[in-house]
Amino acid sequence: MLIDGKEISKKILKEISNDLYKISKNLGRPPSLSIILVGNNSASETYVKAKIKACNQIGIKGELIRFDVNVQSKALMDEIDKLNNNSDIDGILLQLPVPKNLNERELIEHINPLKDVDGLTAENIGLLNSGSPRFIPATPYGIMEIFNRIGITLPGKKVVIIGRSNIVGRPLFSLMSGKGENSNSTVTLCHRYTKNLTEFTLQADIIIVAVGSANILDGSMVKEGAIIIDVGINRVEDKSKKSGYRLIGDVDFKTANKKASYITPVPGGVGPMTITMLMKNVCNAASEVK
Ligand code: NAD
Repeated sequence: MLIDGKEISKKILKEISNDLYKISKNLGRPPSLSIILVGNNSASETYVKAKIKACNQIGIKGELIRFDVNVQSKALMDEIDKLNNNSDIDGILLQLPVPKNLNERELIEHINPLKDVDGLTAENIGLLNSGSPRFIPATPYGIMEIFNRIGITLPGKKVVIIGRSNIVGRPLFSLMSGKGENSNSTVTLCHRYTKNLTEFTLQADIIIVAVGSANILDGSMVKEGAIIIDVGINRVEDKSKKSGYRLIGDVDFKTANKKASYITPVPGGVGPMTITMLMKNVCNAASEVK
């Protein structure tokens, strides 16, 4: 069965707009998110545009702050300081990846953890891993919401996550293997050095793929009835599209869909959920005492 991330997102956004009304009334202003974008990587441009659009649609004040690709670290730190010290700013997001000459970790650590709506500072990663998350990174948060909202129970399930990034694989490992109400799975975290990936995936009740490589998982690697969550976003040339490309996931949908009990499409699966849960994190940040 296809998991409709857009439909689930709509429901959550409706709930968020009820909260937003109360939060805005308390604050005397709408919640706000500042996104810092360095350079003009075309995928990042698309993601940032979608985030700002979502903000505007639900009544969050979304602001995009652009820097030239050659910007020095000091200028970015100064901007982050300004946002940290501005009580009208609730959430700060540094769009990743930043150009290679910049120290991504150092920049992330400069963000006030109370405004770190991507949940990527060491403090917020630590809180998540110790079982008391403050901000759950939006993509894993969205995936957990998918499980909750369509009634997929996690306790005791065998899960394979492919990809160990700080933004998807690692936090998801922590959430799914943790002691939360709908978690307690047995999770294997696979990555580029994993040998015989199929040996792991064939055992899994749930497979989550977050690699960024088309067709890394196909039907022959999947147990009958498995649940498949495709996080990957890959551009493939498509001359029939105005943009000249279309988006596909990491999963060979056709073959995997024949085996899966549930599967997320790309686009329209995890993507909309990610944006929605970011909005939720901004609301949570706006409700925190700073
Ligand atoms: P990343 O790009 O930081 O890292 C990729 C991971 O894949 C690494 O952990 C690496 O070890 C693993 N890997 C690479 N080759 C592999 C192989 N052959 N076998 C097994 N593992 C392999 O990861 P990321 O930032 O999590 O992004 C992954 C994908 O998810 C990208 O396509 C990205 O665009 C997409 N993404 C989508 C959303 C969304 O909202 N839908 C959000 C975040 C990321």
